Amino acid sequence: MKSIGLHWFRRDLRFDGNPALLRNIEEMRGRVLCVFFFDATFLSRPDFSVGRFAFFIKSLQSLKDQLRERGGDLLVLDDGPDAGFERILNLLDKHQLKPALVTWNRDYEPFARLRDERIERWLQKRDIKVLTERDHLICEPHEVLKDDGTPYRVFTPYYRKWKQFLATSGGRVRLAAPTAKDKINFELSWKRVDAKIPALDRCDTFEKQNRRRLKINVPEAGTSEAFRVWKNFGHRLDAYKDLRDFPAHDATSGLSIFFKNGSITTAQVLSRTNRHSASAEKFISEVAWREFYYSILFNFPYVETESFNPKYRNIKWENDEKLFKKWKSGETGFPLVDAGMRELVQTGRMHNRVRMVVASFLVKDLHIDWRWGERFFMEHLLDGDLAANNGGWQWAASTGCDPQPYFRIFNPQSQAKKFDPENSYIQKWVPEFGTKNELRPIVNHAERARRAVTLYRKLG
Ligand SMILES: Cc1cc2nc3c(=O)[nH]c(=O)nc-3n(C[C@H](O)[C@H](O)[C@H](O)COP(=O)(O)OP(=O)(O)OC[C@H]3O[C@@H](n4cnc5c(N)ncnc54)[C@H](O)[C@@H]3O)c2cc1C
Repeated sequence: MKSIGLHWFRRDLRFDGNPALLRNIEEMRGRVLCVFFFDATFLSRPDFSVGRFAFFIKSLQSLKDQLRERGGDLLVLDDGPDAGFERILNLLDKHQLKPALVTWNRDYEPFARLRDERIERWLQKRDIKVLTERDHLICEPHEVLKDDGTPYRVFTPYYRKWKQFLATSGGRVRLAAPTAKDKINFELSWKRVDAKIPALDRCDTFEKQNRRRLKINVPEAGTSEAFRVWKNFGHRLDAYKDLRDFPAHDATSGLSIFFKNGSITTAQVLSRTNRHSASAEKFISEVAWREFYYSILFNFPYVETESFNPKYRNIKWENDEKLFKKWKSGETGFPLVDAGMRELVQTGRMHNRVRMVVASFLVKDLHIDWRWGERFFMEHLLDGDLAANNGGWQWAASTGCDPQPYFRIFNPQSQAKKFDPENSYIQKWVPEFGTKNELRPIVNHAERARRAVTLYRKLG
């Protein structure tokens, strides 16, 4: 039996600066095979998004190219990891090969953590060494804790500690410039093991099946595209602090879709960003919000299904299906809300300010359970990510950690005046705006906002 390494890709879809993969290549002197498992349970999740999946497949295809350029390749199987690893081990056995090392980069979602623990035990029982690395967060949830070892529940002190951590010698290397390590190559590929193995790959089958259901244009994906988007943002970074709240301006980075799949990481971006300006500081703090919400999900995994704040678990939501439908289709008669929802459904994207407004509107004007909105976002957002989405929804619903106080309710009309003063964003998505066909508001905002305050106040 000859020893080889195996790298399991998940949400780290790139070669450059991929810590677990590079470590494997180094330890196994390039004799590393790469695999990706499409978990059937994931594909049948109720919050599955055709658009996000299409973008994911594109990112996988780009990853394949990156690996091929370096002499390797990727095998995409339609098994979950449990059946998948068993299949791979049998396959390798036939060719007198055995993985001595399996690597992956860590994931922090509750489902992923359980899965990874299970797979690690399974591999270790077979005398296979498992090595995991930090990748998609700059600071892992267990690294930024209060002095008494408990997790933060409020962003500002979390952020202070996060920055302190990054100023330590251990933290500084996280944002260090890339090294020549990335230049190493593969000495093995599935094709070289057996020319028939690549025929097992299911990536194109998934792509074809999914394409039939796809209703939106999916943006370019992959690491080169992510770096192009980042470079482009570099020229606009100085204006970020002042313009980031205005949806008509192309003022934010547009990187969240790439962070989600690991085509590029936040550490790679920040290590190449001049971090000494008010705009850069603002951008860094937004990246820290992403990490804060991961920390919340990691330390309080119940937030996936429940309010972070137990006080608000028993709110009597009205959950009116007709109003929910109007919200989903962008027909509420509140132009900024409708613009946002139409943009979401037609493109899979929505500006952060508008996300806050439509989320607040669903919960505090329509009195619909935030989880309905969270699910709808996940069905459509190209960057849909459990931690940030859940955090954003619980913030807007005032049920989360460090949330918007329940009595501070966005007025969608004044938000529009303030953040879309020329109505340019609204007019792009709501062409009937300002014409006789303009929709009438489906609710009276002032009256509904008062009622929302009563709903929350009743619970303390
Ligand atoms: C109700 C609601 C739902 C959301 N759902 C998601 C989601 O599913 N996935 C997601 O990535 N973000 C989500 N966000 C956060 C935010 O809207 C997006 O990250 C941002 O709009 C992405 O655009 P950008 O990359 O141009 O952001 P930039 O302004 O360029 O920010 C840089 C990066 O910081 C992170 N970031 C920025 N704002 C936030 C934030 N408020 N919370 C957490 N991370 C942030 C993102 O990773 C982003 O790419 C949600 C916000 C709200 C209010």
